[in-house]
Amino acid sequence: MPEKQDDCVRVCVRCRPLNDTEVKQGCTMCVKVDEVRGSIEVNIPNSHHGEPPKKFTFDMVFGPNSKQVDLYNQAARPIVDFVLEGYNGTIFAYGQTGTGKTFTMEGVRAVPELRGIIPNSFAHIFGKIAKAEGDTRFLVRVSYLEIYNEEVRDLLHKDQNQRLEVKERPDVGVYVKDLSAFAVNNADDMDRIMTLGNKNRSVGATNMNLHSSRSHAIFSVTVECSEKGPDGKHHVRAGKLHLVDLAGSERQAKTGATGQRLKEATKINLSLSTLGNVISSLVDGKSTHIPYRNSKLTRLLQDSLGGNSKTAMIANIGPADYNFDESISSLRYANRAK
Ligand code: ADP
Ligand code: MG
Repeated sequence: MPEKQDDCVRVCVRCRPLNDTEVKQGCTMCVKVDEVRGSIEVNIPNSHHGEPPKKFTFDMVFGPNSKQVDLYNQAARPIVDFVLEGYNGTIFAYGQTGTGKTFTMEGVRAVPELRGIIPNSFAHIFGKIAKAEGDTRFLVRVSYLEIYNEEVRDLLHKDQNQRLEVKERPDVGVYVKDLSAFAVNNADDMDRIMTLGNKNRSVGATNMNLHSSRSHAIFSVTVECSEKGPDGKHHVRAGKLHLVDLAGSERQAKTGATGQRLKEATKINLSLSTLGNVISSLVDGKSTHIPYRNSKLTRLLQDSLGGNSKTAMIANIGPADYNFDESISSLRYANRAK
């Protein structure tokens, strides 16, 4: 069990490479990543005032050439191991749309070296289960939901028009009423379920890019382990892992949204800022009140943030000069969570 609260939250930053369009347009990199020191420097482009670069340090940083497997081993593996021991853990991907949140969480599942945290965690969990000895039994269940506009949708349910309620009971804590959970026996089962959920995610979305940039997707894995103790009795421990691809963090004012769109945008900003507040008050350790209840996202992750759980926040940024202010804003957000 972690001793200090600040061991419970690890903040990582990942900077993606320039993409082809950015290269063609002659964009330059304004971000410098020092993986050894864990620091990131952002140069202010065309700075007329000779502004010095903005410098940040984090628990871990990953540069444009970082490999999926290294990110998994360093940032995600300790959390998944912790869940396998019966605790709760959450891994978030934060960042502006287009900076690599989905690449980091899901990646390209068909290409082994491009697989992200979610498929790598499937392999890790079932690899561990395969090595279990004697009387140890495991039960793995998965759920997949989305929060859009502060409404919860079960991505594994036939009826995609249904909206679910977040409830609380003294014996089970916070839960989503009627959320589907499927027992899975191997990594392929989990993979198929993820594919199904992703298909449902696009149902009813007129513009999938806009939709995914405005919704939070939470893939949850519960691992129950039953083991014979020294007393000859079976003991059950259960851990929960939440893998969260957050809505885009871009400031919505810039996108010129009005009406319904602006209302949605306000809710996205509310849940991301509440998440920031929850994490920073957990890290700070002095706050007596953690504002979990201020958004659906933090409320339903309540028992997997803080307490005896471990969290990794992976903030994704782009390296291009035109993006410098969004990158700085993401780094500031991540910096508060340290
Ligand atoms: P987001 O989910 O944050 O909107 P994506 O994960 O969809 O962003 O990434 C946008 C594009 O950039 C995708 O084509 C993705 O494959 C590519 N990309 C993102 N991160 C990396 C990376 N670290 N290395 C290579 N390509 C990346
Ligand atoms: Mg995405």
